[in-house]
Amino acid sequence: MSEVLVLIDHAEGAVRKPTYELLTIAKRLGEPSAVFIGPAGQASDVAEKVKAYGAEKVYVVDDSQIKGYLVAPKAEALQQLAEKTSPAAILIPSSAEGKEVAARLSIKLESGLITDAVDVQEGPVTTQSVFAGSYTVTAKVIHGTPIITVKPNSAAPEESAGAGTVEEFEVTVSDAAKAAQIVASQPRKATGRPELTEAAIVVSGGRGTGGNFEPVENLADAIGGAVGASRAAVDSGWIPHTFQIGQTGKTVSPQLYIATGISGAIQHRAGMQTSKTIVAVNKDEEAPIFELVDFGVVGDLHTVLPALTDEVTKRK
Ligand code: FAD
Repeated sequence: MSEVLVLIDHAEGAVRKPTYELLTIAKRLGEPSAVFIGPAGQASDVAEKVKAYGAEKVYVVDDSQIKGYLVAPKAEALQQLAEKTSPAAILIPSSAEGKEVAARLSIKLESGLITDAVDVQEGPVTTQSVFAGSYTVTAKVIHGTPIITVKPNSAAPEESAGAGTVEEFEVTVSDAAKAAQIVASQPRKATGRPELTEAAIVVSGGRGTGGNFEPVENLADAIGGAVGASRAAVDSGWIPHTFQIGQTGKTVSPQLYIATGISGAIQHRAGMQTSKTIVAVNKDEEAPIFELVDFGVVGDLHTVLPALTDEVTKRK
């Protein structure tokens, strides 16, 4: 069975959930091999984690030549590994960095690239949701090694024991790939909430919050969710752009999406309509968001959300 390379998404060795989702998808396509680009000292810990999700091999690329630069050296590392292993496919998380790595890799390998897949089946045949969700596209790479970036929450991670054999892989990074250097980097302030694009639950607020996001944040904290927002809320200066969901913001696909005080404009839907269960709280029963929801509450969010938060807290 051919190998399927999965680029491990991690922060300082802490493996992010999309990696486990990609390993689960990789099992449908061949034999999952995880690729860790990071400090060699963290490799055994990372290998333990990914082998529990079916990684048969874990390629370790020590990042001493790579860290401190932007993404070009990572693409070179994957190129060299792909040339050595001739994988059946390469799966990369659909983060901003992942998509840049994938694009560079596709040029280097002269291979077809599919981005933002929401499903990948044997073939590999991918499903994408495009043009603000108006079309579902089924696609297949027909030249070279399929390189596919997959959106978070596109598969439920399934545990299954892999061999997890660690193999160190030496890379040679060109001077051209080191042309852009990181001068400083500032870690995001820890909020204690899950990362928006990876969260299983997202509670979003729109213009209907009137600028008071406290009920939205309190509900999100009570149910372990991330906080999102509509562009109207962002443009009003109530919440930073990093929280915006939609065509010009982030795309989320959680198990549960709760839209509060959001009308449901097409540009907002583009970022959330693949969510598994959608709930809306809106005081206007004619609001377009209700066309999309599994459950709708007609009411004032400033009353409904605190009541819901109290109820959830009581039941904990
Ligand atoms: P509104 O449309 O004003 O809706 C507010 C809703 O809150 C109403 O339905 C109202 O009934 C309800 N409400 C009011 N008070 C309460 C209350 N107390 N309790 C409960 N409900 C209440 N938008 C995005 O979100 N994301 C994008 O990425 C995005 N990109 C865009 C790109 C382009 C090129 C363009 C043209 C637009 C884009 N937009 C985007 C903007 C989009 O068209 C809408 O204007 C925006 O989504 C509206 O935000 P909203 O639903 O919060 O506000």
